Amino acid sequence: MVVLSEHNPLEDPFAYPMISFVVGTSAMFLMSSGAHLFNSMSSKTRHVCFFFDYAAISVYAFSAGQAFYFYSRPLKLDWVIFRSYPSFVALCTIVSCLSLSSCCASRHRWIGHKFLIRTGTFMASFFINTSPYWVRMWDCQSDIDCNSVSIPYFKRQALFFAIAALANGSRLPERLMPGVFDFCGQSHHFLHILCAIGTVDEFTALYLDMLGRRKALELSHVTPTFANSLLLTTVVLVANVAIVLWFTRAIKSNDTACKKKT
Ligand SMILES: [Zn+2]
Repeated sequence: MVVLSEHNPLEDPFAYPMISFVVGTSAMFLMSSGAHLFNSMSSKTRHVCFFFDYAAISVYAFSAGQAFYFYSRPLKLDWVIFRSYPSFVALCTIVSCLSLSSCCASRHRWIGHKFLIRTGTFMASFFINTSPYWVRMWDCQSDIDCNSVSIPYFKRQALFFAIAALANGSRLPERLMPGVFDFCGQSHHFLHILCAIGTVDEFTALYLDMLGRRKALELSHVTPTFANSLLLTTVVLVANVAIVLWFTRAIKSNDTACKKKT
């Protein structure tokens, strides 16, 4: 954000997707800290805290997809999904809502597979949202798509996220020595540390593309505006909060039903 502020980003619509991404990232870390801080207050608070945690991850992933589309997409490729911003962003919105819903539902259903469901849905979301970069990297057809200083940062963030997902899905090392890593050194700690480092690399990759490809991107058919970046992220945020409130209500109804039975 310090780097962005040198260019007064609020007066430059081209920087709006980056602002979305920075806000999404900050919200994710803030919500995650809050969820881990307050989740022990009660069983219901625990569920609600992590509903909001999943929502923040989901909004962050959407904001990353938007930034990857505007700064890193292939410019010389004829794939409909990259030629049409509405199609790409509609897909990212659906993925955002579905991943949040399945993660929230996994707190009450499919308990035996909850870590796999959460890791799997967020991995799918990661690949879809970063697809503009993957496709550009593997099928580049011009200098503007092939020669990029951001590639090492993008590859490194993917590596950090992959190790984080592996740790979280496998529950290693605590699975081998139950109880030993309850306070420090368990897979969830690695997940957070690796994701934080990966996000810094992700930011750097996007920032380098934003600066280095600006001229070529501004000549293309779609450029960032307030409506198609910041406003859209706000709409997705509201949709995610609505899903969280729906699941929170469902907990209340279940509690009431249980009390009536007893
Ligand atoms: Zn966590």
